Amino acid sequence: MNYNSIVKNDFTSGDGVCVTLYVSGCPLHCPGCHNPQAQDPKYGLPFTDDTIKEVISALTANNIQRNLCVMGGEPFYGENAAEVLRLIFEVQEKAPETKIYVWSGYIYEQLYSSGSYSTLCVLQNIDYLIDGPYIQEQRDITLKMRGSKNQRILRLENGKIVEEL
Ligand code: SF4
Repeated sequence: MNYNSIVKNDFTSGDGVCVTLYVSGCPLHCPGCHNPQAQDPKYGLPFTDDTIKEVISALTANNIQRNLCVMGGEPFYGENAAEVLRLIFEVQEKAPETKIYVWSGYIYEQLYSSGSYSTLCVLQNIDYLIDGPYIQEQRDITLKMRGSKNQRILRLENGKIVEEL
């Protein structure tokens, strides 16, 4: 997997202060995509063990509790799901108080029935999934965490939806 950037003090994506990882690669090509260069899986830098260390270190810098946001690109595209899962397991071990938010252009039901082990494991180990493609005709800049009205903020427990916010 490649990633295009890490924002280490993100005040706008999730709740509180977050470390936000933007992964590369997305097959959905939504018209009006906010990050079209990240549709190319080769865009950006290789995601390595050092990248994971950098994220973990940023999560706890200056004794401030931060949350983790993963967006793209598409975190569940191709090999991305396995790499995102690797990151999540490290975060759970090294910074267990971290809440984890993942954005996807796929809807929850597609991901849940995808048959991908990594995808299911990611769903089982995150707190929030913000799902659905960006639909330009439904754009709404007033929405929290979303770009268009079709997208949902889903709170998950053990991979199941327990609340839609
Ligand atoms: S899902 Fe997100 S990253 Fe992918 S094309 Fe749509 S807006 Fe862009």
